[in-house]
Amino acid sequence: MIRRFRDGAEALPDAIVVLNNDWTIIWCNKLAQQLVGLRWPQDERQRIDNLIRNPEFQTYIQQKQFDQPLELSSPVNEDLVLEYRMLQYGEDQHLLIVRDITQLKLLEQVRKDFVANVSHELRTPLTVLQGYLEVMDADNLPNAGIWQKAHTVMLEQTKRMDALVQQLLTLSRIEAAAKVQFEEHIDVPAMLAMLEQESQTLNRDKQHQISFSVDPDLVVSGIREELRSAFSNLITNAIKYTPNGGQIQVSWLRQHQKAIFSVSDNGEGIAPQHVKRLTERFYRVDQARARATGGTGLGLAIVKHVLQRHNSKLMIFSEPKKGSSFSFSLPAESQPKRKAIQAR
Ligand code: ADP
Repeated sequence: MIRRFRDGAEALPDAIVVLNNDWTIIWCNKLAQQLVGLRWPQDERQRIDNLIRNPEFQTYIQQKQFDQPLELSSPVNEDLVLEYRMLQYGEDQHLLIVRDITQLKLLEQVRKDFVANVSHELRTPLTVLQGYLEVMDADNLPNAGIWQKAHTVMLEQTKRMDALVQQLLTLSRIEAAAKVQFEEHIDVPAMLAMLEQESQTLNRDKQHQISFSVDPDLVVSGIREELRSAFSNLITNAIKYTPNGGQIQVSWLRQHQKAIFSVSDNGEGIAPQHVKRLTERFYRVDQARARATGGTGLGLAIVKHVLQRHNSKLMIFSEPKKGSSFSFSLPAESQPKRKAIQAR
């Protein structure tokens, strides 16, 4: 039985290490020897964290948070990217499964680079076109009747493409950036005051009633520009997708140790089958309508990425014909110490 079990485990395409409850090795297959550099039978009864001497792996084991896999380069070959996944079974027994994800990572990188390069390359010709169109006096062109219309459409479409390229670049930048240092005490109330002013311009034609309810002392740590972009995208969407004269509530409030941001509207709402997919790139509920509003289909993908980097998640509640609410939470910072003002 044991031999058959071992033969079966040898046939698997992944490296397998069977571990005791004290992290010592009971058995490993040949791929574990190739990918991780374990030796069999010499390493029997050795502790796995003595053999994989990487601080991240040691923390992974100590913290026992095995719901997420760990990605590390191989101890025997720097160029290989391995995915370590620890499974718990029986009475505190563990099975370590290691997969070679080098190709997957490479493809992911090629995709990211491609999008970043294309967006970057498109930017210059687009700026030139837009520049000429803006200075062109459509009224004084021959056949002004035809050209006026063409000029308006060309200008509109270059603006749309420009917005698309900008958003693709933003998304690439967020994806490419390594772990950045969080900035402390980000003055979100001041940021929201600016966004409130900006939203009034956008709201000129739509005539919604927009109310902002902001805790003036609520600050957080994070990446300033990214958070600004997340707030702005959610507010802009509510304005864009709610039919004229709607009601929109934006709030930034403390709940226990959390800062909660939320935007609710009483617009058309979104059917449940779309809600799950909204944060995918270029996903739109109504292609034609979204295009008409100048949407790029990238706004919520950006929000999702920004929140991932802040260890948070976008919550979407929506009911068709009633409205939608988009919200997320961040750890609230305790108040920055205010400087005492000395009385004269
Ligand atoms: P876009 O740039 O097209 O607005 P987003 O990623 O920001 O792209 O949004 C994706 C889609 O989600 C939109 O096309 C729209 O159909 C839907 N959506 C987003 N916000 C709302 C909202 N507040 N109410 C109704 N639909 C919304």
